[in-house]
Amino acid sequence: TFEPAHRIAGFKPYFFASLAQKLAQLKAQGMDIIRIDMGSPDLPPTDEIVNTLVDSARRVDTHGYTPNGGTTDFRQAVAAYYQQRFNVTLNPQTETLALIGSKEGLFNLSQVILNPGDLTLVPDPGYPVYKAGSEIAGAEVYLFPLLKENGFLPDLKSIPAEVADRAKILWLNYPNNPTGAIAPMRFFEEAVEFAHRHHILIAHDAPYVDICFDGYRAPSILEVPGAKDVTIEFNSLSKTYNMAGWRLGMAVGNAQVVKYLHTYKSQMDTSHFAPVFDAGIKALTGDQSWLDERNQIYQQRRDIVLTGLREAGLQVDTPPAAIYVWAHLPEGEKDSIAFCNRMLEETGVSTTPGIVYGEFGEGYLRVSLGTATHRIQEAMQRVVAWRKSKA
Ligand code: PMP
Repeated sequence: TFEPAHRIAGFKPYFFASLAQKLAQLKAQGMDIIRIDMGSPDLPPTDEIVNTLVDSARRVDTHGYTPNGGTTDFRQAVAAYYQQRFNVTLNPQTETLALIGSKEGLFNLSQVILNPGDLTLVPDPGYPVYKAGSEIAGAEVYLFPLLKENGFLPDLKSIPAEVADRAKILWLNYPNNPTGAIAPMRFFEEAVEFAHRHHILIAHDAPYVDICFDGYRAPSILEVPGAKDVTIEFNSLSKTYNMAGWRLGMAVGNAQVVKYLHTYKSQMDTSHFAPVFDAGIKALTGDQSWLDERNQIYQQRRDIVLTGLREAGLQVDTPPAAIYVWAHLPEGEKDSIAFCNRMLEETGVSTTPGIVYGEFGEGYLRVSLGTATHRIQEAMQRVVAWRKSKA
């Protein structure tokens, strides 16, 4: 027998890895499953982006290794995108880095910054990788709650000074998964000031920054003057350009931290397929107007979900951004895993239990908008009928 290393012995498979097994069983029993659980966009990137990949792959000189951390052209495209989209100036060589999806960088940031016994500040509910990466690094995690009454923003003042002084990383994520909440600029300003005061690195995870509704436009935290001194921002082509399976993301901001990640990655991975970079450049620097039309589709789905869930007795606020609806379970329902399991088994509709994102996610479930509109419509009809049949 082989024992796992101590640092991974306590780990369970990622929630969506275990869910897949359960869904396969139900499917085998003939159930028509509608997945509105995972945040994987169903729509494709534009033809222009896909054609760039194909044309590049047909060349004879695009099949070797590419530079670790991204080609010069890709890193320039990332800088050009930040300039155009946020009016943030980045040095492509020192302040940008290509990632194998932002998840890779989020996980590895903890490995390059944290020593065993160090402390990190992690939101609850939150994307599970912040906590998992910290724990693998042997760090201690201080969870701070994201509460509905605070608009799912952290109350930085409530973090004790001795905790803040010990902490090395503050994790933030706006537009937020799973709550769909957004951060106003004044919150980012407060966070940057907090980070300066306590000498903390802000890790801002911003993959939903280009999925906004009702005319809202999400900022980058790097727009705050002085942010670069204390901030690394993670971004991704996964959601912005419907390229989740392509595994292309980026870390931008503080040059020292970019360098640590780059050095670490140079020992660990060997970058991307050149056509993926070429298509990524096209996505970042080409026509952006299609994103508005795509966001209209998400907005329409969001509204279908809001109407459906409310009719089914769940309490939901209207999310201004991201691809999720965060819904409070109906009166009397407390256990999100039990509720989502029952819904799945009795209707075939698969949602994500809030507890997956932390203790403060208990009592909620998350619906993803990355599924065909007519299927979302059908999912809502089933859920409403199911709830009414129990009433
Ligand atoms: N951060 C958040 C908040 C996410 O929801 C996701 C994907 N669900 C990621 C990061 C990772 O995205 P990717 O690795 O595809 O860039």
